[in-house]
Amino acid sequence: MGLAGGQQARLSPALPPPRRQAGASSRRQGKAGIITGVQAAPDFSSRLIAWQGRHGRHDLPWQGSREPYRIWVSEIMLQQTQVAAVIPYYQRFMARFPDVATLAAATLDEVLAHWSGLGYYARARHLHATACQVMAVHAGRFPDRSELLQELPGIGRSTAAAIAAFARGERAAILDGNVRRVLARHFAIEGFPGAPKVQAAMWQLAESLLPDTDIEAYTQGLMDLGATVCTRARPRCSACPLAASCSARASDAVARYPAPRPAHARPERRVMLWLLRSRAADGGLRCLLERRPPAGVWGGLWSLPEHLPDGLRVDAIPAGPALHLTHGFTHFVLHITAEQRHVVADPAPAGHGVREHGDLRWCRQAQLAEFGLPAPIRLLLDTAFAADSARPASRPGR
Ligand code: SF4
Repeated sequence: MGLAGGQQARLSPALPPPRRQAGASSRRQGKAGIITGVQAAPDFSSRLIAWQGRHGRHDLPWQGSREPYRIWVSEIMLQQTQVAAVIPYYQRFMARFPDVATLAAATLDEVLAHWSGLGYYARARHLHATACQVMAVHAGRFPDRSELLQELPGIGRSTAAAIAAFARGERAAILDGNVRRVLARHFAIEGFPGAPKVQAAMWQLAESLLPDTDIEAYTQGLMDLGATVCTRARPRCSACPLAASCSARASDAVARYPAPRPAHARPERRVMLWLLRSRAADGGLRCLLERRPPAGVWGGLWSLPEHLPDGLRVDAIPAGPALHLTHGFTHFVLHITAEQRHVVADPAPAGHGVREHGDLRWCRQAQLAEFGLPAPIRLLLDTAFAADSARPASRPGR
């Protein structure tokens, strides 16, 4: 199937001869291009289902439940994050927010604090917004149909399909990054999978491959295969249930699929932040945090101030060497310089003498876990607190 423009989405013509799958649905016939791949791998789904039963994952903390709330939290956490990293976050999150009502009643700050370190913080903001919407619009009953799920913040087509498949066995196709990789290799699909036309072809293919039954095992099997066998680097083709019909393997071109994102240099940005320090009454170090605006980079998270807060005066002499850190975002690279200064006068908020409210807060080392902090900011703070702990006891410090 040829596509116009620079990207090409093509299902390999060099596939084994078509065989008819027993029980194959007639609705899969008649779509040129896509149908070629399906006929070439008629038992794609049955092999995957059988493999999942024997070799797939069955004991993950979010499995064994049809409760859409639990499935939803796991699916959101698993976006762009591997299972091993998600498990401890998921367990802490579910212990604190066991149901949608508890999550909706919590503050966004607390949700972000439980998310701190997982990255892609828009996911946490969407979780909180979705919980509030479910309480307001669905009377606290979490939807389990994909069409309703897609109306909630942060739930796209693939995530909605996964939740609906696991919660009620809905026959809906998933197409996350792992699945795109499996399909691109198995059907030798040319073109970057994120390109709209390639993606549209893959959705059509993913839907045409759906089995008529066992949708949960099939969906889990696709996820498991992409995560444990058809991995980005060093796929284990000898252990793959799809190896016999895999076009990339047959042509010894596994490394060629999926096509990488077209190269373009990410722009670089620079920012100077203030790592402002003061001493509590007991001599312990405190650093000043500022909450980011709700939208934009690190929206709603706590960071270091970009500007000196009103009325606050700092020592002209640095409290330590400037700290430098580079952090890569999807669309740009951020170079951070953190200037360290002692605060010599902090008049706000009036009457308190310390900043305990609003969007500025003093934070001690023991309080770091209470704040939703982007990983680079946490690293800068850890560095500052560690340096202070290593300070010789005899040396006076502020
Ligand atoms: S044979 Fe290899 S490349 Fe093909 S789907 Fe299986 S693991 Fe992926």
